[in-house]
Amino acid sequence: MAGDDKFREAGSIAAEVMDAAIKKVKVGARLLEVANYAEGKIFEMGAKPAFPINISINERAAHYTPDAGDTRVFEKDDLVKLDIGVHVDGYIGDIARSKAIGGGHKKLIAAAEAALDNAISALKPGVKTNEIGGIVEKTIKDFGFLPVNNLTGHMLTEWNLHGGIVVPNVRTMHGHKFREGDVFAIEPFSTDGAGRVVDEANAMIFRYLADKPLRMREARTILAYVKENYSMLPFAERWVADLVPRFKLGLALRQLVSSKSLHPYHILRERAGGLVAQAEHSVRITSGGCEILTEK
Ligand code: MN
Ligand code: MN
Repeated sequence: MAGDDKFREAGSIAAEVMDAAIKKVKVGARLLEVANYAEGKIFEMGAKPAFPINISINERAAHYTPDAGDTRVFEKDDLVKLDIGVHVDGYIGDIARSKAIGGGHKKLIAAAEAALDNAISALKPGVKTNEIGGIVEKTIKDFGFLPVNNLTGHMLTEWNLHGGIVVPNVRTMHGHKFREGDVFAIEPFSTDGAGRVVDEANAMIFRYLADKPLRMREARTILAYVKENYSMLPFAERWVADLVPRFKLGLALRQLVSSKSLHPYHILRERAGGLVAQAEHSVRITSGGCEILTEK
């Protein structure tokens, strides 16, 4: 399969996994069960996760994934963002959707979805990333909300989730022109809060950075394993939890982060505690527009 076809394949698997996984998001279901289901289905379909499924709820915008012992269940008023990444030989499909379990927050979700639709309608060669940011910002503000201004869409290249160029969710001074054949993830976030996310202390998602001297044997074990298996793309705490005694896992990961062996993706929370909705598709720029890759 050529690279172009692998992008399409990864996107279509991501879309199918999303459709199936989001149905499992309901009151009383465990987050861990949905995560295992979604990631298992990706493997079943012959692909691999490009990153751990993000299940971010309410004021959390991104980067929450259940840990190995997670017992949290979905609650009736939760506003849930599922963000799923799939890769086929390094070609990535990245898709996200929001679901309000109690059926509320319709306008907030619609704002993110409309922003995504409007951005996709405007995408074509020669259009600039900051113009797309302007469209996202205006659409979300017209709904009476704010875009999250420090989260962005991003270029997708082989084995690289963030291929250098970002697509802002607000109008910025400078932009980059889209070119035919480029692949991008477009992902507006809408909020009724301050329009900005901040890091929480915790991280459940990490990425390999470099081999560093490590005192703790368990830290060395984890680092060798992730270098072998996830050297380019992010992984979850729960993907390495069985490598070491559970009571040493947290300490080993902290040592790996403080030694700069691993990059931590901190959980991102809306600064003012506002609710956050997200919509995301991966697209390829065509001669006259763009093709949505994350569709079945
Ligand atoms: Mn995503
Ligand atoms: Mn993305």
